[in-house]
Amino acid sequence: MVKPKTEEEIELLRENALLVSKTLAEVGKTVAPGVTTLALNKVAETFIRDNGAIPSFLGYDGFPAALCISVNDTVVHGFPSDYVLKEGDIVSVDCGTLYKGYNGDSAYTFPVGEVDAETRRLLDVTKASLYKGIEAAVDGNRTGDIGYAVQRYVESFGFSVVREFEGHGLGREMHENPGIPNYGRPGKGSKLSEGMVICIEPMINMGGRGIYMARNGWEVHTADHRKSAHFELTVVVRRGKAEQLSTFDFIEKDPMIKF
Ligand code: MG
Ligand code: MG
Repeated sequence: MVKPKTEEEIELLRENALLVSKTLAEVGKTVAPGVTTLALNKVAETFIRDNGAIPSFLGYDGFPAALCISVNDTVVHGFPSDYVLKEGDIVSVDCGTLYKGYNGDSAYTFPVGEVDAETRRLLDVTKASLYKGIEAAVDGNRTGDIGYAVQRYVESFGFSVVREFEGHGLGREMHENPGIPNYGRPGKGSKLSEGMVICIEPMINMGGRGIYMARNGWEVHTADHRKSAHFELTVVVRRGKAEQLSTFDFIEKDPMIKF
């Protein structure tokens, strides 16, 4: 049984969600051909610390950076590196904060310069599937309703859902119960109730759903080496309609960012 958050806790989670949302926009302003993924990490770490928070991913189970940065066929948990972004790449940026004892966690996949039409479609469909999931995150539903909404939408475009990783509850811990799979059956899974704070984060492959783990034990790649996209938002389960805590508005309303 997952205990819903109090409204006081939700306000602290909202502060974190706002900070990760703004951090992702700072990173988005920097994404361009010729930039290394380590440079993106630096932007985020500086911005998070300047705002009095801690980058929660750094040191988490030994993770070496503030951001997970996953380029092209990397699904999630990529290490920032000296890789130089090039025109046509996509780069998933996953960001976590720890502030006032609570966590923030959201992700956005940015195109680098111009991307081909199929890649653009992968980005659009993955993001839209996240909003389909959010629509199902209402009191009385179950986690399977969210997963079903995401999966049904994604598969209708011929893309596939990564099943080995999933969304989660969020609070004092970065990963709390319940798990929120991106596939499932309506009416199955854990019950959702008013005040639960969850992260929904579809990881969607352009090709097959098969993945493998890199030898560093972190980076996840698509088995067919086709591209994968990842978007994540934090929401509060409410009656009738979920309340979004994090937002992509700072990215999508910034005239400097091409998304
Ligand atoms: Mg995340
Ligand atoms: Mg997450």
